[in-house]
Amino acid sequence: MTMPNSSFCPECGTPLAPRRIAGEIRRHGYCERCRQSHHDHPTIVATTFIAHEDRLLWVRRAIQPKQGLWAIPGGYVEQGEPLRVGAARELREEAGLVIEPDALHFYMLGTLTFINQIYVGFRGRVTDPGCDPGPESLEARFFDRRECPWGDVAYPEVNEAVLQAYEDLERDSFEQWHVEMTADSYQRTVISSGPLEG
Ligand SMILES: [Zn+2]
Repeated sequence: MTMPNSSFCPECGTPLAPRRIAGEIRRHGYCERCRQSHHDHPTIVATTFIAHEDRLLWVRRAIQPKQGLWAIPGGYVEQGEPLRVGAARELREEAGLVIEPDALHFYMLGTLTFINQIYVGFRGRVTDPGCDPGPESLEARFFDRRECPWGDVAYPEVNEAVLQAYEDLERDSFEQWHVEMTADSYQRTVISSGPLEG
């Protein structure tokens, strides 16, 4: 049972208690004093697999967490922001790469239970690999699978998903994937395959 990260009521500071509804313990904390539940729902991250020829775009993080390490561009979707718009924004902020949200194609939907995250991966292609990273990144570069700094990646937990992207890129055939990752398992299934645009 995973309890919420914040184990105190954000309103009054009372320790949160596990809540029992109809005899079942729920996955959220309850403040007895405010009589209110405090949920810790998964956060939603939009990631972008951007290809130039057989290379994928990576950014080297200038900020914590994981400062100095490489990651596929992506970040939290903001309130009121459609997914692809958020993905394009992250790309602009982290890599200085401008791509229209419409040029991003749905690629992966994943659950990362161990960090309480849902990610939605998009893919796109550029003909010009020029990047102009902003203050969030030290560098933005395209790597093929062999050049990739595998020893210095920020999130090795998602390497399998990145390898999938390289595989699809090398075959030049993209399926859409559903991925479930827990602390000790990795599972992926094809949502759809066949000729896709882009
Ligand atoms: Zn309270």
